[in-house]
Amino acid sequence: MLAHARSLADELIRLRRDVHAHPELSFQELRTAALVADTLQEIGGIRVRTGIGKTGVIGDLGDEGGPTIAIRADMDALPIIEAVNQPYTSTNVGVMHACGHDAHTAMLLGVAHLLRERFAADGLRGRVRFLFQPSEEAWDREGKSGAPRMIDDGAMDGVDAVIALHVDSTLPLGQVTIRSGWASAAVDDFKASILGTGGHGAAPHEGTDTVFMLAAVINALYGIKSRRLDPVQPCVLSIGMVRGGSAANVIPAEIYMEGTLRSYSEELRAKLAEEVERAFGVARALGGDYRLKITRGYPAGWNDQRVVGWIKDISREYLGDSALDQSPAGLGAEDFAYMCQKAPGAMLMLGAAIGDGVMRAHHTPIFDIDERCLPTGAAILAETALRFLKGQVKL
Ligand SMILES: [Zn+2]
Ligand SMILES: [Zn+2]
Repeated sequence: MLAHARSLADELIRLRRDVHAHPELSFQELRTAALVADTLQEIGGIRVRTGIGKTGVIGDLGDEGGPTIAIRADMDALPIIEAVNQPYTSTNVGVMHACGHDAHTAMLLGVAHLLRERFAADGLRGRVRFLFQPSEEAWDREGKSGAPRMIDDGAMDGVDAVIALHVDSTLPLGQVTIRSGWASAAVDDFKASILGTGGHGAAPHEGTDTVFMLAAVINALYGIKSRRLDPVQPCVLSIGMVRGGSAANVIPAEIYMEGTLRSYSEELRAKLAEEVERAFGVARALGGDYRLKITRGYPAGWNDQRVVGWIKDISREYLGDSALDQSPAGLGAEDFAYMCQKAPGAMLMLGAAIGDGVMRAHHTPIFDIDERCLPTGAAILAETALRFLKGQVKL
């Protein structure tokens, strides 16, 4: 499979560059979806449905006369002005594929190509479902991103297992990271205001000072992880915005703030929210008040141990025993987590660093990948699906 995928390298690079040069924001992936649908039609033998989860595409290869495995790629880009100067640089200025979803889209089209040929040749039973998902990076007004939108439209109905990959521009080429259990964090946002009377800077005692309260509230918030929660359970709280005040001698009556909460278990997630509420209560103890709204985002992602085992075996066969990176999971979030709630699944991280010592982090204007990762990723996904349909690996 790897050799076959390598023979498609030029086509994978062409597709990735095409998508990269024409990036589209979340839920606006119309050109990308059309390119995907056209390419699947050209490959042939695939039932293609568009407009799934707003701008998503589903391709079904095979039928229900056997197990179904779904493979997901996300298609959206980010509102970033690209600083990479290449023939494939974004032509949609202000929008950039700075997370590698262009590569995911190209690789999954490669998987469709690889499996289409195997399907006929090997007389396979069952079905492979290609999920080209919109909007992983953002959610709509109802708080739903692309994965739950596609699930609402039936994308995971009848699916027995689901897999996906994400490129990692900081992991060396030829390396793979995949872990059993918690693989991505649950993410919740909070928006809050600290309320007081404000007043003259010369006479703080005549009113209630929101800046004073803010200092105490931030202390209480950052004390949650170290003093109020089990220290061996991973979680993090970060304040990303504080806004208030208008002049040196005016004590503001209101200060606005926003932050993010990351955790794995639902139990800890609930406790964290409770503790945030308690921390803001400090404002009341100091004579003021607060408003707090916590918005639930993506759930934590759970990688099924069996599916992880299949992918690890294939990764070792293709890339050698030293290919599996053992670093612990971080607190990044991924809406693929919703799909893993519907069927046993796993996501692997694929090494894609260019390897010249320059750090091209995700979500930055200089993000870029080594395109030699494309055939490797396509082959790992295709081989995993093939073994599942052949019954060589089982749930
Ligand atoms: Zn991203
Ligand atoms: Zn991403």
